[in-house]
Order: sequence, then C-alpha cells, then structure tokens
Amino acid sequence: MKNSKPNVIIIGAGVIGVCSAYYLQKFGAQVTVLEQNQISSGASSGNSGLIVPSHSIPLPSPEALKMGFKSIFQKQNPLYIQPKFDLKLFRWLFNFAKNCNPKNIKKVTKTCIDFSLASANEYSKLINEENLNCNFVQNGNLSLFASKEMFNQYFKKYKLLEENGISVKKMSTKEICDTYPHVKPDIAGGLFKKGDAHINPQKFVKELSKIVTSNGGEILENTKVTGFEIQSDEIVKIQTKLKDFSADHIIIAAGAWSPILSKIIGSELPIQPAKGYSITIPQDENKIDTPMMLAEARVGVNPLSDKSFRLAGTLELSGLNFSVNKKRVQKIIDSGQDYLRKEYFKHISTSKIWYGFRPLTPDGLPIIEKSSKVKNLTFASGHGVLGMTLGPITGLTVAEIITEKPTTINTKPFSLNRFN
Ligand SMILES: Cc1cc2nc3c(=O)[nH]c(=O)nc-3n(C[C@H](O)[C@H](O)[C@H](O)COP(=O)(O)OP(=O)(O)OC[C@H]3O[C@@H](n4cnc5c(N)ncnc54)[C@H](O)[C@@H]3O)c2cc1C
Repeated sequence: MKNSKPNVIIIGAGVIGVCSAYYLQKFGAQVTVLEQNQISSGASSGNSGLIVPSHSIPLPSPEALKMGFKSIFQKQNPLYIQPKFDLKLFRWLFNFAKNCNPKNIKKVTKTCIDFSLASANEYSKLINEENLNCNFVQNGNLSLFASKEMFNQYFKKYKLLEENGISVKKMSTKEICDTYPHVKPDIAGGLFKKGDAHINPQKFVKELSKIVTSNGGEILENTKVTGFEIQSDEIVKIQTKLKDFSADHIIIAAGAWSPILSKIIGSELPIQPAKGYSITIPQDENKIDTPMMLAEARVGVNPLSDKSFRLAGTLELSGLNFSVNKKRVQKIIDSGQDYLRKEYFKHISTSKIWYGFRPLTPDGLPIIEKSSKVKNLTFASGHGVLGMTLGPITGLTVAEIITEKPTTINTKPFSLNRFN
C-alpha cells in the first residue's frame, strides 16, 4: 500500500477485528471499526476463553464424522447437525468429510500449532505492554477423562502434539485428586498441557478497544454494514443505515456473518455458524483455579475470576439460529457435574447463559487473505473453535498484509483458494 498512513475500515468488533485494528495502528494506519451491535457482542464475548495451542488437532476427523452422523438421531450429542435442505451446508459438509483423513489432520495440526504458539506469545507481549486487565493467566490446561478408553485414545492422539513441540503430561487419578480438589475422585485420568493459558474474553476485547480509541482509532457501535459500492474492482463506498464510509482498505472480520458480506462482492466464504453455549456460574470459597477440558463431553472450563467460573460447549450446525435449546444447556451442566464436585454448582440458579456462533471452515483453519476479486479488501474470518487463541497473531498478520510487510507466519495455508 503506497499511502504511509492508510485509512482502514474493519467490519466487526470481535477479537479478530479489534486485534487487527490494534496492530494496524502500530503500523501507522488510521482505523475505524464498524460494529452492528456492541464491542465484543458476538462469539468473542461468552466463549470459554481458553488460549490453547494444545487444541490444534482440527475438528474434522473420523470421530467427528461419526458423531455428526449420530447426532441426526441423538439431539443431545456435543456435535449436532440439524437436518434441513441447505445446499451450502451440504457442500460444506462434503468438504468437511473430505478433510477427515490422517494427512489433513497432520498438516492442519502443524500449521495450527505454529500459528497458535505465535499468538500465545503475542498475547503475553501485548497484555504486558498495554497493561491490560483481562485475567490472562498462563498456568496450563488439564484434559479430564471419564473413561479409560478415551484417556488412552487421547494419549495416543496427543503424540501428534508432542511431535510438534507441545508438552503433554499424563496424570493418574490420584495425582489429579491430590492436586485439584474440585475434581471428582472417579475420573479415569488426565493430560496436562503446561503451555496453555486462559483469559476473560470479553474483558480482553473491551480493554484492547480502549487502547485503540485512545490511540486515535474509532469504534462505531450500532453501525451495521449493509452493502458496498464497487468501481473498477475497488470498494468505493461502505454502506450503513446511518451514512456511507470510504477507506483505502476494508477488512471483513465479521465472524459467522462474514459470508453474508462477502456474498455482496460475489465471493463465497465456506463458513458455517457453529453455535455453542456457555454457563457462567458464581463461585465463593474453594475456587476452581485451573482451566480444563472435559474430554468426552467436549466442555471447556475457565476459572474466569474469583467470583465465577464458566462451562462452555456443544457445537450445533443449525445456521444463525437465535433460540436457546434448554436441553443442550442442561446437558453441559450435567456433564460438568460428571467431572467436578457437586458443591461447585450450588449457585447454578443464578448462573448466566450465553450462546454464540463460531465461524467454522470445513478444514479447521481460518481464511486470512486479500480478496482476489476486490483490490482493497481483505478477509480475516473462519477461526472456528480457536478464534480467541488466534486473535493477536491474526491481527498482526492482517496488519502485515495490508501494509505490505513480510508476514511473521506463512499465510499460504489460510488462502481461500484451498477450497477450489
Ligand atoms: C461456546 C464457545 C466456546 C468457545 N471457546 C473458545 C476457546 O476456549 N478458545 C478459543 O480460542 N476460541 C473459542 N471459541 C471460538 C471463538 O469464540 C471464536 O472463534 C471467535 O470469537 C471469533 O471471533 P470473530 O471476531 O471472528 O467473531 P465475533 O466475535 O463473532 O465478531 C464478529 C463481529 O462482527 C459483527 N458483525 C457481523 N456482521 C456485521 C455487519 N454487517 N456490520 C457490522 N458488524 C457486523 C458482529 O456483531 C460481531 O460482533 C468458542 C466459541 C464458542 C461459541
């Protein structure tokens, strides 16, 4: 980009949009973020907040395929596909199934580990530099297993993590119960990954937004982008209900809504909204202080603060569907009680229920690339189950792409072309 202080408009004030704004400012850009609702009101608010390079093994796998098929008949499965006639969903599922093979799993895991480790590094750097108050703690993550069979299966599966530099420590039931008093004594075992961290996701995005605005950026809430005017392969107008905007460069960082915007310029982003729920439960004495994954239930646990902890899970492919399925919420709470002692659930009646949409691609990797159709547009979306983890490195990469600097990481695996 020739302009040394480019004017960049970012659509979406989730973790990806706000991190992009932050790094672009560092590289000298003037930034404006347009958000249809409020800052961090999409997937980046009530998610598990686990910063987990150790979760780099992608979702597309033979087990996920089996679980997805079963879910048509068992609605309370952690992964649920709503049966409906939807050509885009069929195409997406076909692509997902194509990626469920050992070669892809190996390739994506390696890419994702490199990307997420770089992101974890950026998190510590930027939180220290900007003195952000967002409960960022790097004290590892414990995967808990209810069954021996699953424990052994994951132990083997995690070899792939170790081959790529993630340390995994096997823990017996006794070791776990001696170290973590909140865990029930009848679990089968655990795997501890010491490099992982956790954060309060909404606090992080809001705090970083304050830095962006205090450095001269603008974040406009209640400003929904409704269309674009294109001339000679360039966006010349960004339309909203209030007024039109113009910019040297535009970034679509609208999470699960990104395909709606990209369709306007004639590009199809293969992203499906994958709905999940979280329950934030007040806690008092004997606090949970370790982030966990409850393996069979696929539920994440975040010790958010001194006052509450959060359970989050389920992955539902049912479109942008804004209803709350109470049975699925209850299933998450019940799963929590299968692994954690009952007393931690005594304030469940005053817990907060939330849902959000993960922007999920069929291979588990995001799309971060300049558009091939529109010269002044970049996509930064499709971060699926790992968007919180990948926020800072995505922001840095986007800023490097737009200001035409060499990128810190290899961006080839994030190209939209890989789906052609
Ligand atoms: C239950 C659950 C648990 C999760 N746990 C974790 C976890 O532990 N670790 C992890 O790494 N990831 C986790 N994730 C995934 C993570 O939350 C997402 O990948 C990430 O938040 C996506 O960020 P985003 O900025 O792309 O999207 P969002 O946060 O959804 O932001 C997109 C924004 O764009 C705005 N927008 C959309 N359309 C328009 C428009 N037309 N005009 C203006 N604004 C618009 C939306 O309002 C929204 O605020 C979880 C997700 C869920 C649902």
